[in-house]
Amino acid sequence: MDHRLHATASMAESFYHLFVNRRAYTLQSTRPHPETGRHHYYRPKARAGEAGLSLETVQQHLAGEITLGIYAIHPQTQRSKWVAIDADYKNALVDLLKLQNELQQDGVEPALEKSNRGGHLWIFFEQPALARDCRVYIYHTALRLGLPIKGAGLPEGLEIFPRQDELGEGEFGNAIRAPLGVHRGARESRGRRFWFYGADYTLSDQLAYLGRTQKVSAAQLASFIAGKTLPDEFVKHSKRPEAPKHYYSSPDREFRILDYVHVERQVGRNWIARCPSCAAANRDRSGDNLAISVEEPRKYICWAGCTKAMIRNAVGRPIPEKRNAL
Ligand SMILES: [Zn+2]
Repeated sequence: MDHRLHATASMAESFYHLFVNRRAYTLQSTRPHPETGRHHYYRPKARAGEAGLSLETVQQHLAGEITLGIYAIHPQTQRSKWVAIDADYKNALVDLLKLQNELQQDGVEPALEKSNRGGHLWIFFEQPALARDCRVYIYHTALRLGLPIKGAGLPEGLEIFPRQDELGEGEFGNAIRAPLGVHRGARESRGRRFWFYGADYTLSDQLAYLGRTQKVSAAQLASFIAGKTLPDEFVKHSKRPEAPKHYYSSPDREFRILDYVHVERQVGRNWIARCPSCAAANRDRSGDNLAISVEEPRKYICWAGCTKAMIRNAVGRPIPEKRNAL
C-alpha cells in the first residue's frame, strides 16, 4: 500500500512554524534493525554545507517518504514551541482524554494525535516557553488527576516532552516522532499515518486545524505554574537523556558500538556504558568504564584500558584483518 501524499512547500512551512525548535533532528530507519526488528531513529550526520533540518526534508516527511523525529528544546534558549504528552499503554487514551479535559478547564486547547495504543497530546505556545515551565505545568496537572507518569518507579505512564528541564552543552534531549508522517515502527502500525482527531484526515486540513488552535500565552503559563516547582521524585529523571540507537547513517556492515552497549547516561560530551571487554572479565560492575563520543560515536574509549581490538572481540565483531595490497 502506498502511503505517499502530496505535500507542498507551504505545508512544510506551516509544519516548521508549529513544530521545529532546532535544526538537529532524527530519522526513522527505513529498514528494521537485523537483531531487534525495530525501526530505530538515528541522527543523520550533517554533511558539509548543510545547516540541519530543511523545509525540503520536512516536505519529504509530510509526503511520507521519510519519517522525522524532532527535538523539544532549543539549546541556547532552553525553550520549546510546544509540550507533548506521549501515552502508549493499555487504556492510555482514557488518561489522555482526562488530561485534555483538565487542560481545557484552564482555557488551553490541546490537540490529540493518535498513535499505537494511545496518542500524543500537543499544547502549543504563542512564544517558545521555558522547558522547565512547560514541564512543571503538565506534571502538576497530571499528578492532580492521579495519572501515572513514567519514571520515578513507574514503568508505564505518561511521558512528557521536553523530557529535560534544560540541556547541557552538546546535548539534544529526547526526540519525539514528528506528527503527520508515516510511522515505520511497531508491527501493528507499520506504514500508517496517525492523524489528529480535530480535523479531516488530509494534510491541509490537519495543518490548518493546528494553526488555528489556541496557543498558550506567556502570562497564562506563568499563572498556571505560580509558586510551583517540579515534584522532587521527578527531578533526577529530568537529567537523563536517551541515547539514539543509531547515531547516523552508515553502511549496514559498519561497526557501531552503540549497537552493542546499553547507554546508561550522558556525561558532558560522552555517552557512558559498561565496557563489553571489562564485562566479559566480570569487571566494570558500575557500568561506566566505556565513554562514547556524542558527536563522533565512532570514537570510544575504555577508561580501564581495554583496547579497541579487545572490545571488538568481546562483542563478536573482531576488527577485520587488512588484506595486503598486491
Ligand atoms: Zn574495558
